[in-house]
Parts: sequence; structure tokens; C-alpha cells
Amino acid sequence: VLNLDSRPTIAEIDLAALRHNYYQVKKAVPAGSGLLAVVKADAYGHGFMDISRELEALGVTAFGVAFLAEGIQLRKSGIDRPILLLGGIYPGQEKKCVGFNISTAVFSLDQARVLDDVARKLYRKAKIHLKVDTGMGRLGIRYEEAPAFFRELKKLKNLELEGIFSHFASADELDDEGSGYTARQTEIFAAVLQEGTRQGFSPTFVHIANSAAAFSRDFPFCNLARPGIVLYGALPSADFQGKIDVKPVMRLKSRVAMLKWVEPGTSISYARRYVAGKKTLVASVPVGYADGYCRALTNKGEALVRGQRARVAGTVCMDWIMLDVTDIAGVAVGDEVTLLGCDNQGNCIHAEELAAWSGTIAYEIFCGISKRVPRVYI
Ligand code: PLP
Repeated sequence: VLNLDSRPTIAEIDLAALRHNYYQVKKAVPAGSGLLAVVKADAYGHGFMDISRELEALGVTAFGVAFLAEGIQLRKSGIDRPILLLGGIYPGQEKKCVGFNISTAVFSLDQARVLDDVARKLYRKAKIHLKVDTGMGRLGIRYEEAPAFFRELKKLKNLELEGIFSHFASADELDDEGSGYTARQTEIFAAVLQEGTRQGFSPTFVHIANSAAAFSRDFPFCNLARPGIVLYGALPSADFQGKIDVKPVMRLKSRVAMLKWVEPGTSISYARRYVAGKKTLVASVPVGYADGYCRALTNKGEALVRGQRARVAGTVCMDWIMLDVTDIAGVAVGDEVTLLGCDNQGNCIHAEELAAWSGTIAYEIFCGISKRVPRVYI
């Protein structure tokens, strides 16, 4: 078995930063609002067991995961707060879902009926959150279907409508177009809620706000926000620069394994995409695209060495990158290299920066840090 601990490339997970971010979200939402922490995809790559335990200790209301296997893992790790399957269940998963007391998104009457039947046979109530598509165009009943849906739901006595929710398509765009669309989605959601109330439903949880919405709008008819990205210390989009005070939770770090001076004209790495223009000091660092350090960072990525930024020199390999450290005084083999997150002096490479260099978003950077990188909790 490969001993991952002996490799210097690790992802440090700073639980103090997570706590700071949690309190920032709490401050942003009304006093009575709870938080459903989105910990799907292994807490956006941060390791959902430890992250969830920490959030539970902080008093989080509930957890959101993508699918049943994630929910069961969370339950088995001892989490006893409500867990919501944001993506719902697939046929055949009803019994486990009810058995593990996991709440699921429901977005079709067929789903609801099967779940009701399974719950009846188990002498249990299945907890569901009705997902309404107010404009995301992904999951959820269309709002026009809501009146009929509520009428049918009333007949299913083994279901508990624990929640009603929806999801924004462009809450992270604070310009007129994004805001207008978000306002329209909000109005539609409010109308669906009204219809639910009219038909006698009073769900425990009503929720629509992701991180972006929680920090930019008020939702008086909701009692839960559903943040993900901000808990991990990144912004929903560049529109939130300077508006949200969160700290990176993940620090991807490694160490300089080799140093060498090369003469002008020397090429570095595959396909010779970097050629030294002058006498250059090159550091080889054992991190690569197999760790989630994207190949798109070739000649673009920057890393922190001794508090200074060094540029990736040449093609990112599966297990290695090379850095141009010519201008970093005193650099030595064994020096720490911070590829993502903040070093001990507080210099940071933000996920948003890595994302911009590699043409993606912070979410994908976090989720892409691969399983072979040990998560070390500090
Ligand atoms: N709610 C749902 C349904 C989601 O799919 C997600 C994330 O993709 C979130 C909430 C959290 O979004 P964010 O990470 O932008 O806060």
C-alpha cells in the first residue's frame, strides 16, 4: 500500500478558517435563519467527515449532499442532524433513504408515490423536500404544476413535507441582468410557497439561498440558507470581491525536491513549452495533474516559496511541476511550496486565481484536488 503520508504533497484543512467562514455566513443571514451546509462532493474536496463534524459542533442546522451514498456515509460517521439529498433518490433507493432517516428532494409525483408506499410498509414517514424549478432549468417541478402537485401530495399520508426549496441560476451575478433573473425566481418561489400554505402545508424548512444569494439578498419567507463555497473560503464569483470576508480553508502544499541552475536556451518539461531566456534557477516540486494541479496551469500557475510568488515553468506533468525560483533569495531543497491557499505568513494563492489561470471556477479547483492528496486537519 502506498504510504501517502511520506509524500510532501498534502492538503492542509484549516478548521479555524472554516469556523470563521461559518460565522460570516451566520452574520449575513437573519438571526432566525438556520444553515444547511452543502457538503456534497466530499465537502467540495475538503473531506466531508471532518468538515461535517466541525459544522455540527458549531450548531449547523442540516447538511446537503448530492446523492444517497454520500448521505449514508455521513449518517454512518455519526452525524444525526437532518441530511438532505439535493439530487433526490433513484428507483430502488427508497428503503435505505427512509431507513437511514435521510430527507430527499422530490420532483415528481411518481417518486413521491413510490416513497410513500415504501414508507407505509416500513411504518415510517419519509421526509421530503419539494424541489421547485423557478428558473434553474435543472431539477424541480415547474411552478405551474405546484397547485396540482400539492393536491396529490395531500393524499400521500406516509410522506412528511419537511421542506420546500429551489435553486438560483445566477445569484452570483450582481449586475442588472443577473439580479433581475434572481428577483423573478424569488417571486415565483414565493408564489409557490403561498399556494402550499393555502393548501395547508407548513414545512419545517423553506430554503432557496446559496452562498451568493445569502450574501446579497434577504428572503423573509425562508428560514434556512444553503451555503457551500463560502464555507470553504472562496467567493461565489468575482462580483463578491471585497464584499465577503472569508478565509481559504484548504492549503495545497508541497516541498522543493530539487534545484538546478540552467543556462539560457534550456527547455523545461514536456513539449519544451518553456525555454529559459536567461540563467534560471528551476525548482522541481512533486505535485501534478494527478493531484488536481491542472495541466492548464502550464506556464501560468504561480506558487508561494518563502513568501514570494514563483511561476510554473513549462508543462505541468502528472506528478511534477517546475517553478522558476531565480528571484527567490535563499531558496533551498525542502522549502515549503504553497500552491493553493495561504502560507504561514498570510500570503495567499486564492482558488479564484488558480481558476482564472486554468479557465474554470473555484468550485472545480477544490473538487479536483484528487484523493491521492492526504487531507490533514489543523
Ligand atoms: N444548493 C444546491 C441545490 C446546490 O447544487 C449547491 C451547489 O452547487 C448549493 C446549494 C451551494 O451553492 P454555493 O456553493 O454556490 O453556495
